[in-house]
Amino acid sequence: MDKQPLTPLAQAVQQVLADITSLTEVEQVSLDQAQGRVLSKALVSPIAVPPFANSQMDGYAGRFDELRAETFLPVRLRVPAGSSPPELPFGSLARIFTGAPIPEGADTVIMQEDMTTQEQDGQLFARPSRLPDCKGRFVRQSGADIQPGQILLGPGRRLGSADIGFLASVGVQKVDVFRQPRVAIFSTGDELVQPGGALGPGQIFDSNRPMMRTVFGQYGLSVSDLGRLPDKADATREALQRASHSHDMVLTCGGVSVGEEDHVKAAVTALGSLRLWKLAMKPGKPFAFGQINRCYFVGLPGNPVSAWVTFFLLGQLLLRRLEGETAPNLLKFTAPAGFDWPRPDPREEFLRGRLDDQGFLHIHARQDSHILSSLVESTGLIRIPGNTTVVQGDRLDFFPYRF
Ligand code: AMP
Ligand code: MG
Repeated sequence: MDKQPLTPLAQAVQQVLADITSLTEVEQVSLDQAQGRVLSKALVSPIAVPPFANSQMDGYAGRFDELRAETFLPVRLRVPAGSSPPELPFGSLARIFTGAPIPEGADTVIMQEDMTTQEQDGQLFARPSRLPDCKGRFVRQSGADIQPGQILLGPGRRLGSADIGFLASVGVQKVDVFRQPRVAIFSTGDELVQPGGALGPGQIFDSNRPMMRTVFGQYGLSVSDLGRLPDKADATREALQRASHSHDMVLTCGGVSVGEEDHVKAAVTALGSLRLWKLAMKPGKPFAFGQINRCYFVGLPGNPVSAWVTFFLLGQLLLRRLEGETAPNLLKFTAPAGFDWPRPDPREEFLRGRLDDQGFLHIHARQDSHILSSLVESTGLIRIPGNTTVVQGDRLDFFPYRF
């Protein structure tokens, strides 16, 4: 089994995303609960946005042909936002404010800084001190952003704050979203003590489970934290089986390597199917994916950096697909290396590093998979393809994870 071929990450992503059947149950939530949820059907606009032509500036609205004469015209209307003005009489102007409806007849707005005003017998007059460059200047046309009947957002989109504003702009108050996945997490290992406890000989604190609870929290999910599994085959199998009945995804950390104390993989194989094991990447080789009953299984490596990196690059995509996101992906851009990497590795590597102010990538000095400080002191993952050396200036993929 140790001779298992390693799967390249890109292939693993494709395989796993194709393998996952997204949840289909739908629920309705109010707009203020919709942030981070995944739309289950397309939303169509019932109205135009803006719903009426309105002014983009505080200024004066008039007819372009009259404004072009650059003569004083009487200001006959005053149009604040939220009002409903009458038609603008010929040969006159309207004092208008940002967001106020353009009166019938007017077609152009001149900002107040570009107008000269004077008063005569209690009547205000104004003329352009600078001509508008075209008819329609500073008029926000009705429907310029959204047309009635237009599809606003499609199914499978995870809603962000701009989306919420967009939906609010057409008066949407409730949206149909997929229900959230029920996720259970376990850590594994007889050496683990929970933070708050006291370390005995040979023991370490369990850092992965609090870390994983948090990453699911970032997706607005509350997870069932099912604690720590001992390094025992029976207990591992029983716990995984029980969790699989009431969850859509079970995630474990550790116990998926090749040692005799690694019981997770064997348990999944016995209870269901193991579809993927071992990635051709560093850190993160002992990653596992499978299914127990109708529940997906994700086995992260035990080393904390490997656990975090594999969840970031693969696990979260899988979770997002499960929740119905159509095309889950990661933010990535390329930047020149500010370092040399003379020792190629057959496995693709994801080095912890950062982007400097000049746009060059730098790697953290310590890249071992148990050094959590390398993650904390970095801002992204730098990808080095397998069997590749790097010299300064070579462009590399960078996956930012904090700013
Ligand atoms: P394993 O894959 O179980 O052999 O674990 C690999 C390494 O990660 C070992 O050094 C474990 O002690 C460590 N490890 C496993 N799980 C955790 C955890 N939840 N928190 C911190 N370290 C862990
Ligand atoms: Mg272990």
